[in-house]
Amino acid sequence: MDKINDIELTEYFSLYEFECPCCRRVMLSPDLFARLNHLRMVINRPVYINSGYRCKEENHKVGGVSGSYHLLGMAVDIHVKDFLLYDLLLYTQEMGFNGIGFYEKKNFLHLDIRPGPKHTWKGNKLIGY
Ligand SMILES: [Zn+2]
Ligand SMILES: [Zn+2]
Repeated sequence: MDKINDIELTEYFSLYEFECPCCRRVMLSPDLFARLNHLRMVINRPVYINSGYRCKEENHKVGGVSGSYHLLGMAVDIHVKDFLLYDLLLYTQEMGFNGIGFYEKKNFLHLDIRPGPKHTWKGNKLIGY
């Protein structure tokens, strides 16, 4: 049987990479996806999706905030192997991601396309707009 969501969206990403791990439901914003593909093309290395869409239950389980953009298919957490997280942060700064979370200890970036001004944070601290 075909694996659900096993659909190649681009040469870089398949739909299942963005699905909720608990229920395999998925929502994916075209704007977020376009920016992510752009990033992938520019850095020319595989981008791993740690977390894409989350249903309410999953978001609660992983300790996400209640208004998380993961619930709307408008956020991803990513990492890139053998690539400095700080360098990745610099690349994402100018690519239209409005929310950027820098998680140094766990080695991932949160990227979202929230409306309004740009927010960049490190842990719980806002480090830029
Ligand atoms: Zn779920
Ligand atoms: Zn996130």
